[in-house]
Amino acid sequence: MLGTVVVLQRARMASPRKTTKRPTTGPSSTSSGPPAKKGHWSLGLLDTMKDPSFQVYTDDRVVVIKDKYPKARFHYLVLPREQIAKLKALKPCHLDLLRHMEEVGDKVIKEAIGEEGLTYRLGYHAVPSMSHLHLHAISQDFDSPTLKTKKHWNTFTTAYFVESKEVIDQLEMDGKVDTSSKNPDALLKLPLRCHVCKLELGNIPKLKAHIVTHIKKS
Ligand code: AMP
Ligand code: ZN
Repeated sequence: MLGTVVVLQRARMASPRKTTKRPTTGPSSTSSGPPAKKGHWSLGLLDTMKDPSFQVYTDDRVVVIKDKYPKARFHYLVLPREQIAKLKALKPCHLDLLRHMEEVGDKVIKEAIGEEGLTYRLGYHAVPSMSHLHLHAISQDFDSPTLKTKKHWNTFTTAYFVESKEVIDQLEMDGKVDTSSKNPDALLKLPLRCHVCKLELGNIPKLKAHIVTHIKKS
């Protein structure tokens, strides 16, 4: 049985509190280097998780928050209450939790999108910038002023975005999750390509002007 949805509103309507400055996404100092120190921006999700103005759903196992720098009209993060730093830390005992995270993410974004007719995806970044495991639930319009860079685009529209189902299947089959075979660094360098019609665009402003033409059609 799922818990209570506290607030559902368009992700871009968030009015976040001011916190320490940090890149909206960036190369991870937590994924390969030493653990981040207390107060480091990469630990920001742990603070936001506790902030009722960001929470849209809570239960005894997960908290769902609005993404502070949404990359689409609807963009949520599903976080386990259990301390799990990253995909690599997952063990088969987490399978049930991952399925729950997917179920909750699906319910939250479906309810938020309502009748707007947008599609959405549920997945993890191959190499996240932020510490603490988080499942993205994101609508596929990518119509957001905080989507600004090629890195933003490629992390959500190439194989860098690993479907929740793929993570669960891998954990089930291999007993662990390893995304290194995807060659994530190379994926970030791919040319900008529309996720709907695959047209290649020369820069972010051109891409953004193009993708809005697909909204309502996708
Ligand atoms: P990633 O670690 O690449 O999977 O993505 C981290 C996501 O967290 C991005 O979509 C950011 O916009 C979002 N984000 C970054 N800092 C915060 C924060 N303090 N609170 C909520 N969301 C955040
Ligand atoms: Zn297109």
